[in-house]
Amino acid sequence: MFVSHLQCTICGKSYPPDALKYVCPLHGDEGILDVVYDYAEINRHLSPAQISASRDTSIWRYWDLLPLTDRANIPPLQVGWTPLYHARHLGAQLGLDKLYLKDDGRNPTASYKDRASAVVVAKAGELGEKIITTASSGNAGAALAGCAASAHLPSVIFVPETAPTAKVAQLLIFGARVFLVRGTYDQASDLCLAAAKEFGWYCRNTAYNPYTTEGKKTGALEICEQLASANSWSPVSAWSAPDRIFVSVGDGNIIGGVWKGLRDLHALGWIDKMPKLMGVQAEGSAACYNAWKAGADEITPIHASTIADSIDVGLPRDGRRAVRAVRATNGEFLTVSDDEILEAMPLLARGEAIFAEPAASAAYAGLLKAVRAQKIDRAETVVVLLTGNGLKDIRSAVQAAGEAQTIDPTLDAVKRAISAA
Ligand SMILES: *Cc1c(COP(=O)(O)O)cnc(C)c1O
Ligand SMILES: [Zn+2]
Repeated sequence: MFVSHLQCTICGKSYPPDALKYVCPLHGDEGILDVVYDYAEINRHLSPAQISASRDTSIWRYWDLLPLTDRANIPPLQVGWTPLYHARHLGAQLGLDKLYLKDDGRNPTASYKDRASAVVVAKAGELGEKIITTASSGNAGAALAGCAASAHLPSVIFVPETAPTAKVAQLLIFGARVFLVRGTYDQASDLCLAAAKEFGWYCRNTAYNPYTTEGKKTGALEICEQLASANSWSPVSAWSAPDRIFVSVGDGNIIGGVWKGLRDLHALGWIDKMPKLMGVQAEGSAACYNAWKAGADEITPIHASTIADSIDVGLPRDGRRAVRAVRATNGEFLTVSDDEILEAMPLLARGEAIFAEPAASAAYAGLLKAVRAQKIDRAETVVVLLTGNGLKDIRSAVQAAGEAQTIDPTLDAVKRAISAA
């Protein structure tokens, strides 16, 4: 393992690897830790070409860039290495020559959260933990329940009672102990933390557990590796960063994780520039956007409400780092309405055949808005991270796509229907 230390994102204090389980004790639950590596040592052992030659089609191809010591604890479920599509059709519509869509709905439990949960479950194995828990709006829980089932570790999941049925079904079918909390995701988070402390469960709560970010950074590693090898048959010796990455933001842990992956690659000298990170929030759940707009470092909690349940967050758990990610990369925050999110869903599905859940299509809606505002140059390489699969929330899909027509089982009925249309 090449971790050199853990560092508090508030006071900058360093701690030895594994000295702390969760947060900097000087700052309570807000003292989120960054995992810092010995980059020179990594470069002495490893090259990007070696990784590009790997036949491991999962996040574990980046083993040496992850905070783990024993491969025996890896859950067998195959997470990551999702496709990065060159979206020629939608790109042409938008006047973008190099538009790419990363379909993370292709993960085993159908969202980006599998990346974090796989790493945290592996860590739980190293630490000898017996029970693992998380709060979730749905996807993080499904991912943890799946990865925990894969490692035969019992899991306890807290979700708001309003979570989409498909996500709750995922939790139950994987055998998790499920609590539907009468309250918001924010309340479920606080309850999960309290329960973890009370019962001694290992807590995966987003950002509170420092290894969620390390899992989520793997999406950025993949983007830079996949962009570099898109036009090459042989392993590439340097990777390529895109110009911009659009990421939907709820807690802010995905965008913070993407930023961390890029910072790691930049520190290693494997990419030569930092992409602008474009954070996209729902209008009704825009706490990070508000802080960014106001030039503030502190996030003011709001009463959140959006159709995109995965980004329906009043108090972002990793908001400070999300705002930093956008500022430090000269990116921007954007907001999109629920209608714009619903409009983006069929566009993605019909344009490039990717069925994305509302929180994922929000990122694409953000791109549309940025293009309309002429913020993006035709020649830029733009990546949109599509974080979850549309089957997770078919109510929204039906709302976006409309109902199908019912007919009698006769050819005549088909003829009448066709001529009426
Ligand atoms: C969790 C999630 C997000 C947002 O990630 P945060 O880390 O909460 O900002 C976006 N899309 C989907 C599908 C998600 O599950
Ligand atoms: Zn601190």
